[in-house]
Amino acid sequence: MNLILLGPPGAGKGTQGHRLSERYGIPEISTGDILRAAVRQGTPLGQEAQRYMERGALVPDEVIVGIVRERLAQDDTQTGFILDGFPRTVAQAETLSQLTEAQGRSIAHVLSIEVPEQELLQRLGGRRQMEGRHDDTAEAVHHRLEVYRRETAPLIDYYRQRGLLRSIPGVGTLDEIFQRITAVCDKL
Ligand code: ADP
Repeated sequence: MNLILLGPPGAGKGTQGHRLSERYGIPEISTGDILRAAVRQGTPLGQEAQRYMERGALVPDEVIVGIVRERLAQDDTQTGFILDGFPRTVAQAETLSQLTEAQGRSIAHVLSIEVPEQELLQRLGGRRQMEGRHDDTAEAVHHRLEVYRRETAPLIDYYRQRGLLRSIPGVGTLDEIFQRITAVCDKL
């Protein structure tokens, strides 16, 4: 079962991704987590990525595609995977589709978690205080939402046209949202 979690920053992709990973026994691949780990370790990749991340800008496609390609080559993804934070641009989506096709794999569902902008701003403001993420400054949050609207939101139509989009209302309790997602995925 190969899944993509799509949604704006603050939509709860990470939380739902963890739970889905447990329920279905398939790895969650969060490009944000992979990049943050690289930044913490101070690797060359981390040093390059940090410059983009702290501004709320996207890391260049070549960099992120390399990371995902390597991760999807690992054995634990054989029975399925959950992508969180990738693809984020139409170019990344095209690359992913070539990559999976070449491996004889296909995406089952693109779960689009939808949250009104007003609520996102509140959540991201709260998270900044709780987690102290470097890219949760007011300017970086603003920029991430702008980048989402411009670069990532077009993927909603992209996947709808391919018959893969499943819209999930992303408001309510975490359990409610999780149930909406599993109602879709359990049918496979
Ligand atoms: P959020 O969804 O809350 O914005 P993520 O943890 O998914 O945060 O990503 C944090 C940052 O990592 C992004 O703002 C971006 O700089 C970088 N990043 C993560 N995934 C990608 C990607 N697929 N393409 C480019 N940059 C990415």
